[in-house]
Amino acid sequence: MKKNFLSIEEFIKKEKEKARKLRQTRWWRRQLERGICYYCGRRVGAKNLTMDHKIPLSRGGTSDRVNIVPCCKDCNNKKKYLLPWEWDEYIKSLKSKKVDGE
Ligand SMILES: [Zn+2]
Repeated sequence: MKKNFLSIEEFIKKEKEKARKLRQTRWWRRQLERGICYYCGRRVGAKNLTMDHKIPLSRGGTSDRVNIVPCCKDCNNKKKYLLPWEWDEYIKSLKSKKVDGE
C-alpha cells in the first residue's frame, strides 16, 4: 500500500526543524522583544520567554506563525505538566483575572 502520510515521528521532526528556523527570524525576535507572555500577559522580558506551540506538535499542531507564541517559564511549565483540560481551565482563570484598562 502506498503511504501518503508522514508518521507522527517524521511529522514532529519536520516541524521541530521548522521551529528551529523560525527562531532565527526577525519575526520571532520581535515577539521576544515585546517581552510579553502570550498566555498570562505578564511582562517578563525577552530572556524569560520561550517558544511555545499553542497546539502541541504531538496533537497535530505545526510550526507556523499562527501556532507559535512567546510563553513565560511559568506558563510553559504548567502547560507541560497539566492535562489539556486543566490547561484550558488555567487559561480561562487567567482571562477572568485580567483587569480592564491594562
Ligand atoms: Zn505566562
